[in-house]
Amino acid sequence: MHLNPYGEDPVRFVIELTNTPPISADELARRCAEAGMVVDRTVTDADLAEALDFISRWTEVVDATTDEHRAALLNVLLADASAHPRLTDHAEGGWHIHYRDDDLGLAGVLRAVASVGTALHLSGRGMHRLGRCALVECGSAYADFSRAGRQRYCSHTCANRDAVRRHRARRAC
Ligand SMILES: [Zn+2]
Ligand SMILES: [Zn+2]
Repeated sequence: MHLNPYGEDPVRFVIELTNTPPISADELARRCAEAGMVVDRTVTDADLAEALDFISRWTEVVDATTDEHRAALLNVLLADASAHPRLTDHAEGGWHIHYRDDDLGLAGVLRAVASVGTALHLSGRGMHRLGRCALVECGSAYADFSRAGRQRYCSHTCANRDAVRRHRARRAC
């Protein structure tokens, strides 16, 4: 998985991991590979624990209530997970930038790509573009990639369900 200028792919992936956390090292490895990450070494339970710890800290970035707090939380993740940028051509797809040290395990790569991707997403599209679904019984995390930037639900399904409910509530009065 390469970082595009707005970090969309890593942000989509960490949202999926947040809403449905992996329950085994094998599952983590499979899902990372499906997301386009290079999985070239054995993924261990330590990787799983590191990934889950990162996901719970990343969730705090989603739940931050001010831009400043969101930035501060993400800056801590960036300080822990990323390193100076460098050019590399280790994989097919040509030269690209890594914001991390070489030779990290899968969880280390995930932490770096998700932290930098989130910083690109928020700085490029807007600091408010992470949130929780407004449908009360859902509450899934989402990232807003829409043009208008006014997303409030994780999916069309939840938006429609809430619209139907509000319509019924109005008619009942
Ligand atoms: Zn790479
Ligand atoms: Zn939802």
